Amino acid sequence: MADAVAIVTGGSRGIGRAIVERLVADGYSVATCGRGPRPGDLAHAVHWVTADVADPTDAARIVAATTETFGAPVLLVNNAGVQVEKTVADSSDDDWNLVMNVNCRGVFNMCRAVLPAMSGSRGSIINIGSISAHVSDPSMALYNASKAFVHGLTRSIAIDHGPNVRCNAISPGWIMTAMAQDGFALARDPERAMADALARHPVGRFGTPEDIANAVSWLASDQAAYVSGACITVDGGMTAASPLNPGLF
Ligand code: NDP
Repeated sequence: MADAVAIVTGGSRGIGRAIVERLVADGYSVATCGRGPRPGDLAHAVHWVTADVADPTDAARIVAATTETFGAPVLLVNNAGVQVEKTVADSSDDDWNLVMNVNCRGVFNMCRAVLPAMSGSRGSIINIGSISAHVSDPSMALYNASKAFVHGLTRSIAIDHGPNVRCNAISPGWIMTAMAQDGFALARDPERAMADALARHPVGRFGTPEDIANAVSWLASDQAAYVSGACITVDGGMTAASPLNPGLF
């Protein structure tokens, strides 16, 4: 992928950082962003933009800065996301604004900003959704709903902007990052909850950020040229299982 240009949102840590590193290894020139300053351990070759994807002006600025630095992007990975661990009854207007502005509007802002650059040639958009769009963990109401939006928008972009643009989503399961730790911390007994969750993974382990980066690398490649409008689950088989307690079988 020499000379190919990619944008990955939320590359300061976690899954986004692994995607950035994998795309650099694949030969892309990569720009990434986050709301804070450039992380000290980010590779020099990666272009950093301090920006909030929830702000349409910032989204346009990320695309413009990338184009100015490397040329027009052919790949956008919408990874930036936030999580609020509350039920509907407990959620405030501020919670709504945070989750919906980042997870929904942020994805929309970035897609809208990048599509003109891709539509005349070729492009691929990969949105990081979640298994939470299909099955609901407790006390994640706004987060779960926001990821359903991401999957819906993915399908719309695929049908409206083909044949030049392919758009797909990845639905990660439990990927061990700060966000996943916050999820387990909600449990009455986090250690027991983690052991139970682990037993529900047919592959016998939780996910790593690299598992998601591998899926991004494939979806972005010509090997996936016939894949568009898909939501690909990468969860170690967890949501393939029935609700029976695996410890009893
Ligand atoms: P982290 O919280 O570890 O990282 C999130 C990244 O997004 C950070 O780089 C953060 O940087 C950035 N970010 C957050 N808000 C914004 C914003 N408004 N503008 C720009 N950047 C932003 O999360 P994960 O790596 O765990 O998750 C990454 C994605 O994967 C998310 O979309 C998440 O919903 C999804 N996911 C994660 C799962 C998991 O088990 N970990 C499971 C399913 C889906 P900063 O805070 O500096 O802005």
